[in-house]
Amino acid sequence: MAHLWRGVIEEYRDRLPVTDATPVITLGEGGTPLVRSGWLSGIVRGDVWLKVEGDNPTGSFKDRGMTVAISIAAGEGAKAVVCASTGNTSASMAAYAASAGLTPIVLVPHGKISAGKMAQAVMHGAEVIQVNGNFDDCLTMSRGLAEHYPVALVNSVNPMRLQGQKTAAFEIVDALAATPDLHVLPVGNAGNISAYWLGFKEYAEAGVATKTPTLWGFQAEGAAPIVNGAPVLHPETIASAIRIGNPASWHLAVAARDESGGRIAAVSDAQILQAQRDLASRDGVFVEPASAAGVAGLLAAAARGEVEPDQLISVTVTGHGLKDTETALSGIDSIIDSVIEVDVDAAAAAAGLA
Ligand SMILES: *Cc1c(COP(=O)(O)O)cnc(C)c1O
Repeated sequence: MAHLWRGVIEEYRDRLPVTDATPVITLGEGGTPLVRSGWLSGIVRGDVWLKVEGDNPTGSFKDRGMTVAISIAAGEGAKAVVCASTGNTSASMAAYAASAGLTPIVLVPHGKISAGKMAQAVMHGAEVIQVNGNFDDCLTMSRGLAEHYPVALVNSVNPMRLQGQKTAAFEIVDALAATPDLHVLPVGNAGNISAYWLGFKEYAEAGVATKTPTLWGFQAEGAAPIVNGAPVLHPETIASAIRIGNPASWHLAVAARDESGGRIAAVSDAQILQAQRDLASRDGVFVEPASAAGVAGLLAAAARGEVEPDQLISVTVTGHGLKDTETALSGIDSIIDSVIEVDVDAAAAAAGLA
């Protein structure tokens, strides 16, 4: 029989903090495509691969961490779980909680969640609480709830999340049968860059990988606390998944940057939207705005001549484009190209064939 991908816990059980007694709550996450990007490879004069994390069950990499966090919480007898979210964590938590029979409670910034992400949380049965504040306020409140009430916190401050998310680094090395020279990704709450570093280091220490890559992380200009070296009180960017002013994993991310000899820099919203459109129209990979920050950063670095040629480069694109179609289409002048009568020749003319 063909191999059925079993989800990250079963695929990497010996590298995750689970026991035989842990109930495995999985939706088959992980095992996502690694897609070679021809145009990016040409621009940087290297070999660029996209790790397409929007192909996870709820459409973002958050599922890798959530399968572990929810499995552990369920094993410990939790009845309810809580998270603060810009959208994707709540979508993921709600799905895994539904599967585990736990009550999901989500705190989101009022009016700041895309319709697609909100639909996910609602459909999976979450108690959605909109807070008159930003993500950072929601996270503070989630911590408070978990401290004082019988509910488990599954934001990435829960170390189980990073454990699950590190499996993406394993998959990249496994799929390429090599370690990238450079790995690039967006940075928001900074859990994911920290998780990748855990994964790459673990594989190198175990001798599965021959080395660790350099890590480049990219924040949005209006939400770039790590780049500025100070929290941003009112973070602003169209890339809502990285609209975070005070990252929970700040110190881990800085350590990952420095230990890998890498960088964390900022890209503008315009660069992000351009990279999003390029990925969709050149690679056939539709990602949400935040997910394109890594590609935007790589392109900006290449334009300054800062990308060494002949490197093996992996870039994580973090979430699916269908989650936020409103932002994607907002930059397109005319969405409807033409409206015609039922007529083949009129269609040909409209398509520029005749
Ligand atoms: C969560 C998320 C990010 C940011 O990841 P962090 O771990 O918070 O740095 C980026 N893109 C998408 C699509 C996300 O859902």
